[in-house]
Amino acid sequence: MTCLFVLYSALSEAAFFRPDIRPGYGVTKQAWLSDYFAPLRETNMDTPVFILESGKPGLTALAIGGTHAREIAGFTAATIMVETVRMARGRLIVIPHANNSAISIQDQESRIPRFHMIESRSGTRLLPYGDRRTDIRDQGIPDPVEYVHPSGQVIKDGRESRNLNRVYPGKPDGTPTERLAHAIIQLIRAESVDFSVDFHEANTPEYFINKKGEIEKGGRLAYMLVCNPKGVEVGAMAVLQMSEETGISMKLEQSDRAFRGLSHLEIGDATHCVSFLTESPNPGQDAWRESPDVLRDSTYSLEHRVAMTLSMFRNIAEAFSVFHDNEFEMGDWPSFSDIIEKGVGAYLN
Ligand SMILES: [Zn+2]
Repeated sequence: MTCLFVLYSALSEAAFFRPDIRPGYGVTKQAWLSDYFAPLRETNMDTPVFILESGKPGLTALAIGGTHAREIAGFTAATIMVETVRMARGRLIVIPHANNSAISIQDQESRIPRFHMIESRSGTRLLPYGDRRTDIRDQGIPDPVEYVHPSGQVIKDGRESRNLNRVYPGKPDGTPTERLAHAIIQLIRAESVDFSVDFHEANTPEYFINKKGEIEKGGRLAYMLVCNPKGVEVGAMAVLQMSEETGISMKLEQSDRAFRGLSHLEIGDATHCVSFLTESPNPGQDAWRESPDVLRDSTYSLEHRVAMTLSMFRNIAEAFSVFHDNEFEMGDWPSFSDIIEKGVGAYLN
């Protein structure tokens, strides 16, 4: 009986998971998302927040990784910010794993291994590969047939009620995923964040043979910068600078007000913050690949994707500084070529 009870508990209770983040000297304060919205405390939805204060006045930026926990370049880029970057002017706030519940479980839609080995400055580290959504055990209720966004908009797939990037701006008395979105909005208000960048990955733009034997082009989203309408000029300048620096031509898109719940739209609409979202190409999200290598793909390596994400962030920050006549300056900040040449692990503790 006891054995059965223990087994049942193990199956029904969500994993309590804390990702491995090893702050560098640039971090001046460590907080929790629950400091901004207490109901998250002592739940698997709470997540660490790192603040890198330069000590000199300037802009406040927020980097969001791990909204979708299988999009590993995003949270790896955010982790590098925490472990390597030092600010020279202004303030950087980083949430490496925005959906902690989603990184606590395996990707439910692929057979990508749960952990990947990376050689960091202090030896081998395990990089987790998580899921796109909140663990249903943390959500605590069965998925609805349809998700009804607080605006009234309906998403046909009820599982999307657990997708952090469909539920913004969230609800203080909503589901755990809606409360999580609300907590991030509360942080943005409390810290007077000037601009935010949410780091994502999408399937690659490669051509492939589909099930009907036809040649099909892959994802449209990879290499995209999506801007809240109030950030389009900054985004355009950032994309131009990015192409000069890296040779990567990012596509630029403005948030579509017909699709509610996305961070780039809702953060900017709900707060004074100007919100952006980036998409790098993750071969692990290509359903047609038999055994994708999410670290060492010959075209879309983790190095390439993390370098792209960090470079896009820096170019947004520089363009934002020009347009808003205020400064945000990063000190120790690896360039695109630094990461390509030395690898991601060279910037992890
Ligand atoms: Zn995503």
